[in-house]
Amino acid sequence: MRHEQRSPSDDPLTTLLDQVRRGLRDLDDGEPASYIPELSRVDPALFGLSLCALDGQVYGSGDTTAPFTVQSVSKPFVFALALADRGLEEVLTRVGAEPSGEAFNSIRLEPGTGRPPNPMVNAGAIVTSSLVAGDTPQARFARILEGLGDFAGRSLDVDEAVYASECATGDRNRALAYLMHNAGSLTGDVEEQLGVYFRQCSVLVTCDDLAVMHATLAGGGVNPVTGKRVVAPRHAQHVLAVMATCGMYDASGQWMLQVGMPAKSGVSGAIGVALPGQFGIGVFSPPLEEKGNSVRGIAACHLLSDQFGLHLMRAVDPQRRPLPPRSLHGAPLRSLR
Ligand code: GLU
Repeated sequence: MRHEQRSPSDDPLTTLLDQVRRGLRDLDDGEPASYIPELSRVDPALFGLSLCALDGQVYGSGDTTAPFTVQSVSKPFVFALALADRGLEEVLTRVGAEPSGEAFNSIRLEPGTGRPPNPMVNAGAIVTSSLVAGDTPQARFARILEGLGDFAGRSLDVDEAVYASECATGDRNRALAYLMHNAGSLTGDVEEQLGVYFRQCSVLVTCDDLAVMHATLAGGGVNPVTGKRVVAPRHAQHVLAVMATCGMYDASGQWMLQVGMPAKSGVSGAIGVALPGQFGIGVFSPPLEEKGNSVRGIAACHLLSDQFGLHLMRAVDPQRRPLPPRSLHGAPLRSLR
C-alpha cells in the first residue's frame, strides 16, 4: 500500500483540510473541460484536497485517492526531467521562461527564435516533452512515466480512453507542433512528439500523488515519502521559479498576487502547489473557470494561503520562525466568498 504515512483522521491538519473542503462544497460554479470529450464524463462533484509535508506525512480530505488524468500538471515535472537530461542552457535555446499572458493553447512563438514562451503552456510543454532523453518515442515516454512515478513515489498508468480522445481531437496542439517544427523549435517527427505529449497528459494520478509530487519539488528534488532523489536541487528551483510566474495559465499574475505559491493547474480540474521548503498540496475538483483552472481548487488554495500567511512574499517576522505545516491548526476559517 502506498502513502502509508497517512495521518489519522483526527489530527489538526486533517481537520483543517476537512474544514476548507466542507466550506467550499456549495461553490458550484464552472464546468468540467469538454474540448477533450472524454474529460466531460467525469463526476463534477469529486473534490479532494491533500497535503504532503517534507517528512513524508500525507494529510487529506475528501476524494484524495480518486484517479484523474494529470493533464498540464505534468508540465513542471517533464520540464524537470528535460532539465536533468539536457541542462538549463540547452533547454532555454528551445523554450523561453516568460509568462505569455495568453491562454494555455495560444499560438504565439517568439519572433526570430520560434521559441514557445514557457514550458507551462501547451507549445512549450510539447517541446520539453521532446527534450527528455530517449532514442525512440517509446523510450522517451517510458522515461517520462517512470520520472512522474518517481515524483509520486509509486508507478503510474495511462488512461487509454483519455489518450485516444485527445489524439482524436487535438488539432490545435497538432497545429502548434507543426508551426514549431517549421520554426525550428520542435525537431523530429511531429506526430511522434505529439503522441508522447498526449500520453504524458493522460497519466493517471490522485490528489495524494499530486501532494507528494509537489512536496518533492518543494523539498529540492527528493521525494519525502520514498527518500529518492528525483532531480537536482537547482532543477527543482528552476521549475518552481517558472511555476511561480507561468503555472496558472493567463491567471498566473493574479494567482501570485493572491495566493503567492508556485502552482500548476490542469484542465482535468487538478491544481498542484509547492511551498518551497514546506510542503506540497494537491487539489482536484473538475469544474473550471473560464481560464481553465479548477474553481474550488483556486478557492481552497486562496483560503489556505490567506488564513495561514503562506504567501511567499510575506515579510518574515524576525521573532517567529516559519511555521511547519503541522502547526497549522483548525482555527475557525473565514469564508472568502
Ligand atoms: N492535454 C491538454 C491539452 O494539451 C492539457 C491542457 C491543460 O491541462 O492545460 O490541451
